[in-house]
Amino acid sequence: MSRAGEYPDLPEPLPAPVADNHTHIDIPAGDEPRPVGRLISDAAVVGVDRIVQIGCDLDSARWTVEAIDAHPALLGGVALHPNDAARHADGTHESGVGYDEAFAEIADLARAPRVRVIGETGLDRYRTGPEGWDAQARSFRDHIALAKELGKVLQIHDRDAHADIIEVLARDGAPDRTVFHCFSGDATLARLCVDRGWYVSFAGNVTFKNAGELRTALSVVPLGRLLVETDAPYLTPHPHRGRPNASYLVPWTMREIATVLEVPLGEACAAVSATCDDLYGPW
Ligand SMILES: [Zn+2]
Repeated sequence: MSRAGEYPDLPEPLPAPVADNHTHIDIPAGDEPRPVGRLISDAAVVGVDRIVQIGCDLDSARWTVEAIDAHPALLGGVALHPNDAARHADGTHESGVGYDEAFAEIADLARAPRVRVIGETGLDRYRTGPEGWDAQARSFRDHIALAKELGKVLQIHDRDAHADIIEVLARDGAPDRTVFHCFSGDATLARLCVDRGWYVSFAGNVTFKNAGELRTALSVVPLGRLLVETDAPYLTPHPHRGRPNASYLVPWTMREIATVLEVPLGEACAAVSATCDDLYGPW
């Protein structure tokens, strides 16, 4: 087993509980993938007592709806990821399912009461070429409408598409509760999100040595609009970058957030926790 494939040790526990706002427990990671129950219990040991599990393709959305019933620490989100949406639309998705049928199933799964999030949806200019951008925009708009119809929180995936995301939200109107997951913009975009009443969620990349611009963006977000997430198994925080990520590693990111905002760690945790309760309701 290589060290790169090994899960890091548990960090020092947080002084107050927080929720992991966005993770993919169903995606196996590392040389020895860990069972869901272990990932949830390790997180609870270090103060991450609630987790938003995001199912962002058909299989993973189906898995999510079952998992949130089996595990009280989980709430769920379902969507077609923008990269999957493009492939459902052009007929190249490995499931063989077309876009309309795929979105209809997501809309159905989204009605489960413990599914509180429509997401992740949005635009991805990094993995999908220009030929798929119209399909992504259509899917994004369908998910916005679904979040509004069902009164659920929208979680946005924005990869190299800041201006286009803002334009779609301006045209269609954002749902009442809108979250930029794994925020990747600068301070100007962060301020714009805050001004429009949206929420900003930071992942482990805010701890990276070269993430100065992201930390500057974080510094303009008020505590009441801030969330923390792993986006696990990706984006493992420093000092474990490159190894498998999981919700129990949130304390590294939470400590960085408190440092950047110059607030006591317990206060930052309490604020993030309260914001999650406001957004998602009781777990
Ligand atoms: Zn994600």
